Amino acid sequence: MSAAVFLDRDGVLNIEAGYIHDVADLQLVPGAAAAVRQLNERGYFCCLVSNQSGPARGYYPVAHVEALHTRLCNLLYADAGARLDALYFCPYLSPPAGGSNPELACWSTWRKPNTGMLVAAAWQHELDLSRSIVIGDKATDVDLAHNAGATGILVRTGYGAQVLGGRYQHATRPDYIADDLSAAVAWILGNRAIAPL
Ligand SMILES: [Mg+2]
Repeated sequence: MSAAVFLDRDGVLNIEAGYIHDVADLQLVPGAAAAVRQLNERGYFCCLVSNQSGPARGYYPVAHVEALHTRLCNLLYADAGARLDALYFCPYLSPPAGGSNPELACWSTWRKPNTGMLVAAAWQHELDLSRSIVIGDKATDVDLAHNAGATGILVRTGYGAQVLGGRYQHATRPDYIADDLSAAVAWILGNRAIAPL
């Protein structure tokens, strides 16, 4: 079984911009593509895991999220020849949390910090979650990592600085705090305890 690096999307790979209605507004965090390329070359399984509640809130269809992901993959490849090995996202949101589209307004084990996306990826791609890493910009990303028995890295990009300043979500204890995805990947590549094989 291989180790994976699970990558949050908004605030980690692309610049946090709220709900992105225009596909062209999705822009990469500087250095993100080169960082993913480094993970590719080292043999980590690179997997997007993203809460995308826009469809459940009625903002846009699931197909729009898929179009955003096509652009994301194209930008990563064009910028540095980087690739994501798999992409998982949760389009569901419970009614109390704001879900209004009846087809998607439900509680889901896929919604972070629940572990559903990681469990699905582990089964489908034979991943060892205990040797895997989650990189995110929210406390719920770190919670996801720890709920799944993985290592959790918080980046300062996106909401990360606000989380660390106590101004967003709740206090969290990441295994490592990195300025951005590039710094997170540098830490991973220098840490033998979480080598890919
Ligand atoms: Mg995020």
